[in-house]
Amino acid sequence: MKKHNFSAGPAILPQEVLQQAAAAIQELDGIGLSLIEISHRSKEFVAIMEEAQQLALRLLGLENKGYRALFLQGGANLQFLMVAYNLLEHKAGYINTGTWSTKAIKEAQLFGEVEELASSKDKNFSYIPKDYAISSDLDYIHLTTNNTIFGTQIKELPVAAAPLVADMSSDIFSWNMDYSKFDLLYAGAQKNMGPAGTTLVVVKESILGKVSRSIPAMLDYRVHLDKDSMFNTPPVFAVYTSLLNMRWVDQQGGIAAVEAQNRKKAELLYNEIDRNSAFEGFAAPEDRSIMNATFNLSDPDTAALFDSLWQENGISGLKGHRSVGGYRASIYNAMPLESVQLLVDCMQAFEKKI
Ligand SMILES: *Cc1c(COP(=O)(O)O)cnc(C)c1O
Repeated sequence: MKKHNFSAGPAILPQEVLQQAAAAIQELDGIGLSLIEISHRSKEFVAIMEEAQQLALRLLGLENKGYRALFLQGGANLQFLMVAYNLLEHKAGYINTGTWSTKAIKEAQLFGEVEELASSKDKNFSYIPKDYAISSDLDYIHLTTNNTIFGTQIKELPVAAAPLVADMSSDIFSWNMDYSKFDLLYAGAQKNMGPAGTTLVVVKESILGKVSRSIPAMLDYRVHLDKDSMFNTPPVFAVYTSLLNMRWVDQQGGIAAVEAQNRKKAELLYNEIDRNSAFEGFAAPEDRSIMNATFNLSDPDTAALFDSLWQENGISGLKGHRSVGGYRASIYNAMPLESVQLLVDCMQAFEKKI
């Protein structure tokens, strides 16, 4: 039986995307060869890469606005240092909203001065800081739009006089907004876009080329742009499967349509967390993520009973991250409403049993 996958990442993908990816491993589009045994310079793969780059820009509403899309390797973790390598000359501002922001700050400090503009560490990152001052002398401002571990999400962007850079690993393609507010955004594929192995980077070309240091070719955005993400062999399977999933988002009606579904799922789950006496939400209600819902048991001694209940119902991946404890339901784009309803049913059955 296929389980209901609430894992934070690598995460759920639509069933049809998995089937199409599996078929392409056997044979890509009737060409008599597997996707993973053809040259990345073949016309078939070049077309895949071009479509993936164009579709990423189109879904985000960033076509013809000076942006380019790249599919790189090294995960979001490599972007933590690549951003600073390419953009940090004197000082950058970082908003610290969790484990990933903290890691991004640590890497950027290797390249220049980092000012922590705001932090929610005082309350174990359970909220998004608001109303902080922003210095005027920053090379860029970096933030994490969705904090996968803590279940918080930024809903209002800082009004900045500097380029805005965002780690969108866990909420890329999940909500509709004006993405041209960002000058660079990146997302490791394995949360809401595809399998692990590639990272989407969308960058406004005009912000590059301003630092004085020399940059190794593999870490230089301009080198990758110049070679259309083919400076070296790209992760062909991860890029192709990400493309299949972007086509799926497009077929749903684009990001706005997917967002409407995501909001329904999140509302269903958060309403139950708030109503059910056996549970307490972790994140501040106004900052709750529509992708990762974090919650705890009111009485931790009842954990064994709740765990057996959801496991018996075919639910997988519900355990919270060790830095928060409790539970985390990741309800990415591909998660059906029915699976969220099943979780809510388990929560209600549990409340009756204790
Ligand atoms: C998972 C995650 C990362 C780390 O991604 P890798 O691809 O494993 O380096 C970074 N930022 C956020 C927001 C994440 O959810």
